[in-house]
Amino acid sequence: MKQYRHLFFDLDRTLWDFEANAEETLKDIYLNHDLQQKGIPSFEEFKNSYRLINKNLWEQYKQDKISKERLSVERFRQTLEYFTIKDETLAKKIADDYITISPTKTRLFPNVHETLHYLAPKYQIHILTNGFNEVQFVKLERAGLRKYFDAIITSENAGSKKPDPGIFEHALAQTHASREESLVIGDDPESDIEGAANIGIDQVFVNYQQLSNGIEPTYEITDLKELRKIL
Ligand SMILES: [Mg+2]
Repeated sequence: MKQYRHLFFDLDRTLWDFEANAEETLKDIYLNHDLQQKGIPSFEEFKNSYRLINKNLWEQYKQDKISKERLSVERFRQTLEYFTIKDETLAKKIADDYITISPTKTRLFPNVHETLHYLAPKYQIHILTNGFNEVQFVKLERAGLRKYFDAIITSENAGSKKPDPGIFEHALAQTHASREESLVIGDDPESDIEGAANIGIDQVFVNYQQLSNGIEPTYEITDLKELRKIL
């Protein structure tokens, strides 16, 4: 086993429970904007259409077909339109609310604090995330996670996003880490695992949903507490 010194954690869906926090945020929005009165019959319907539309737009964002600014409004514009609400101003207001509210939510996966508390004195631990600066820093602060991390590397600062080699090179340079002593820990088979593997960094695949993905990570876990067996 290699002697790791630097651990690079993905944030969304690895530490921060993105789905649970998104759901809480959408609920706030549904209620705050009286969306039932405006013609969206139930929260479930609102949530389900949003999820589908958002997923499509994220695919386009990943392929650089749409900007983050456009994505942030477009997902709500299309959701409202699906319920025949044509209101550009409301879509923009909701998009702003989403960006403001969602990073204040604090739901984490099991054993996040315990694991980071255990690792922090032994390793240099960092965040390596494709998220946007203005939201990722708020999430870390609000969820009480900031204290564990040495460097916070975002795609926005790195100028490229996972799985591009550029962001991994940037992360190594910023933390003065070598590939051999680094380990990437994340939930995304492509962005985290293949991305790191492609430039020769070992990886831990955090497979909460226990899906088979046809990838061969260095390690695979289904609960963060299993990191203690590796590290
Ligand atoms: Mg992730």
